[in-house]
Amino acid sequence: MAATIKPIEAKSVHQIQAGQVIVDLCSVVKELVENALDAEANAVEVRFKNYGLDAIEVQDNGTGISEANYESLALKHYTSKLSTYDDLSELQTFGFRGEALSSLCALSTLSVTTAQAHEAPKGKRLEFEISGKLKSTSLTAAQKGTTITVESLFSRLPVRQKELSKNIKREYGKVLGLLHAYACISTKVKFTVKNAMPKGRSAVVFSTKGNSSTRDNIANVYGAKMLSQLVELNLKLDFQPTLTQMGRSDVDCAKVSVVGHISKPVFGEGRQTPDRQMFFVNGRPCGLPQIAKAINEVYKSYNVSQSAFVFADFRMDTNNYDVNVSPDKRTIFLHNASALTDRLKEELAKCFDETEQTVPQSQM
Ligand code: ADP
Ligand code: MG
Repeated sequence: MAATIKPIEAKSVHQIQAGQVIVDLCSVVKELVENALDAEANAVEVRFKNYGLDAIEVQDNGTGISEANYESLALKHYTSKLSTYDDLSELQTFGFRGEALSSLCALSTLSVTTAQAHEAPKGKRLEFEISGKLKSTSLTAAQKGTTITVESLFSRLPVRQKELSKNIKREYGKVLGLLHAYACISTKVKFTVKNAMPKGRSAVVFSTKGNSSTRDNIANVYGAKMLSQLVELNLKLDFQPTLTQMGRSDVDCAKVSVVGHISKPVFGEGRQTPDRQMFFVNGRPCGLPQIAKAINEVYKSYNVSQSAFVFADFRMDTNNYDVNVSPDKRTIFLHNASALTDRLKEELAKCFDETEQTVPQSQM
């Protein structure tokens, strides 16, 4: 006899869905850093214990959380950033689904310390149940802003926890790559990243100064030498859209510009596998595999043995892309990606041709 179809119990549904938003160490850090930036912080400190296996903590000096929001803070689909689907196209914030904190409650032990300007130096420490319900509130010393601590990540998903501890060095490397991207693009925010090993002291991994240019940030993160090897990107990529865009069939010319920095063809990264490549859409760090492939192809035709350092922000109207593609929001769907990459290849080649001529002989 066929089995009966019956609903999965609510607690399990919560855990299954949480596992789609928080897939790995990167997603934890990404969600917490984005919340800090959404809270208008201009200083963000990310602290790892044992590369994140023991704890991940993100402290910001942003708005803090008002007492009226404590109860709903970690409830699923509770957000201060979006209320209807229509708001999505106007989205200015990183977050919008109200899922990150709720998912973290399901997959770790989450605690929050927060104070608004008028409350500091006193604040509140909040603890939550697995469901995201507020468990306890207590008075504590706190500066203006919010600190979110995630401990025992994936302890309720033993397979994933085992996987994480097995690959922790690689995962931590990926996280640093992601943090480099946020730190370099955030010109108004001072980023500090620290790690502490068990029984060891906390050591600064990298930091930026805040209130500086992307060039200064790149120098702080990757070293000053890197700067001399880069050429500025300032490309205008207007193109004819081939696809009708979400509710906008009237667009006859899509305007895209690319602002950033890329290795001069004579200075590669010394390895063939692209590694230090950061892509953004309107300042939002994201993976853009088609764009990366196009850039690497052009670069290869100038320098066969190395790969390029890339820091490229694609600025365009929000109707040219969709951020609501994957639960972890890391994928951005570009409408007309192939028309865009064709134009990018043309303009990048032009940029490299001009650069070739300006590289001093001594550096060749
Ligand atoms: P989302 O970012 O999609 O709204 P989250 O689960 O990440 O969902 O966060 C839920 C809500 O908690 C946010 O909408 C915001 O109001 C509040 N919040 C989270 N982190 C912070 C923070 N660091 N500072 C201030 N408010 C925060
Ligand atoms: Mg968020």
